[in-house]
Amino acid sequence: MIAGPSVYICNHCVMSSVDILKTNTAAFTTPDLRSRSLKTPYLIKNALDEYVIGQEAAKKSLAVAVYNHYKRLEAKQRFSDSDVEIEKSNILLIGPTGTGKTLLARTLARILDVPFAIADATTLTESGYVGDDVESILVHLLQNAEYNVQRAEQGIIYIDEIDKIARKSENVSITRDVSGEGVQQALLKILEGSVIGVPPKGGRKHPEQPLININTRDILFVCGGAFGGLENIIQRRIGTNPLGFGSDTHSMSKIQRQYVLAHVEPDDLLSFGLIPELIGRLPVTSSLHPISREGLQTILTQPKNALVKQYVRLFEMEDVSLEFDHAALEAIVDRALERGTGARALRSIMERAMMDIMYNLPSKENVTRCFVTSDTIENGAEPVYTVKEQKKTA
Ligand code: ADP
Repeated sequence: MIAGPSVYICNHCVMSSVDILKTNTAAFTTPDLRSRSLKTPYLIKNALDEYVIGQEAAKKSLAVAVYNHYKRLEAKQRFSDSDVEIEKSNILLIGPTGTGKTLLARTLARILDVPFAIADATTLTESGYVGDDVESILVHLLQNAEYNVQRAEQGIIYIDEIDKIARKSENVSITRDVSGEGVQQALLKILEGSVIGVPPKGGRKHPEQPLININTRDILFVCGGAFGGLENIIQRRIGTNPLGFGSDTHSMSKIQRQYVLAHVEPDDLLSFGLIPELIGRLPVTSSLHPISREGLQTILTQPKNALVKQYVRLFEMEDVSLEFDHAALEAIVDRALERGTGARALRSIMERAMMDIMYNLPSKENVTRCFVTSDTIENGAEPVYTVKEQKKTA
C-alpha cells in the first residue's frame, strides 16, 4: 500500500492506472511535426551515410520519399481544406540478402525519431489461419511507440521478404498460390490506409482486451525482398541481348544482374506475382547492390556502430586496447564472401572468432593490448597479448 495524506492505494491499482493513462493520454499528445524541423533530403542522406555503406541510389530515393512523406503530413496540418492531396509514397527495396534493406529502414526511423517495426511477410497469414494476422504488425509499432497512438500513426514499418508472398506465376504452375495472394490482399488494406482495431497486447490469447484503433494512412511502409529471378523477367521484357550480356540469362554475373534490376518496371513485378493493387501502393522502387569486398571491409570498420568499433569499446571496458591486423580483417571478409549472405555473415564470423578471446581475457592479468591476427580468425590461434611489466620484487 502506498500512503497519501488521507488515502491509500495498492500496487495493483497503481499499475492499472498507469495502463489507463498510457492509452488515454496518448490521444492528447500530438507530436508537432514542425518542431521536428523537417530535415532536407540531403541531410537525411548524410545521416544515412553514417550507418549505411554504399547503396547511393537507394539512399537518395529513400531520402526524397521520406522527406515528401513528412511534408505531406505537414501540408495536411497547414492546408486542411486543400483539394490537392499528396499521396503517400511507400517504398519497395529490391536487393539480395544482407545488403542493408532492413538497416536502411531502421536507420531512417532512428534519424527521424519515429517509432519503427519490422515484420516478416512469410509469417503473415490471412485472418483466421494459423500464423500472425496482418494486424500484428501494428501491435509491434504501437508497443514501440509506447502506446502513444498518434506517434504510432506516423511511424515506419519495414516488411521483409515481400517477394515470398508473390503468387506463383501462371507459367510455372496451374494451381495458383491462393494463400500468397490472400496475404497480399490483407497487406493492401493496411498499406492503403484504413482504421484497424489492434489488440494492444497482441495475439488472440486475450480476447477480452479492448481494441485500440490505429489509422494507417500516415504510416510509411518500406517493403523489401530479394526477388530472385526478377532479373530474368526484366531481361525478357527488354528483349534479347539489348544490354550486351549474352542471351543466356543464367550466365549473368552479379554486376549484370544488378544493372538489369535497376530497370524494373511495375509490369515486371506483376509478372513476378505481386498483385497490381499492391504494386500501385508501392510507387517508389529502388534496387540495392550486392556488397563488394571493399564494401564489406568498410562495413567492418567505418559505420558509426561498426562491428570493430563495438568490440573495441567492449575491450576498453576491460582496459585492454583491441587491434586487428589488416590481414585478420581480410580473412573475415573472405569468409563472409564465401557464405554469400552479404554483410549479414560478418557478425557471426566475428562473434565466433572473438568468443574464446572474450572467454579467456577477463581471467588474464595485466593485459594491456590484444592484437588479433589472421591466424586467430582462420585457425582459432591465440591473439598476441601485450602484458604490463610487473615491478620485480626482491
Ligand atoms: P537485408 O538487406 O537482408 O535486410 P540487413 O539490412 O538486415 O540486410 O543487413 C544485415 C546486417 O549487415 C546489418 O545489421 C548491418 O550490420 C550489415 N549491413 C548490411 N548492409 C550494409 C551496408 N550497406 N552498410 C553497413 N552495414 C550493412
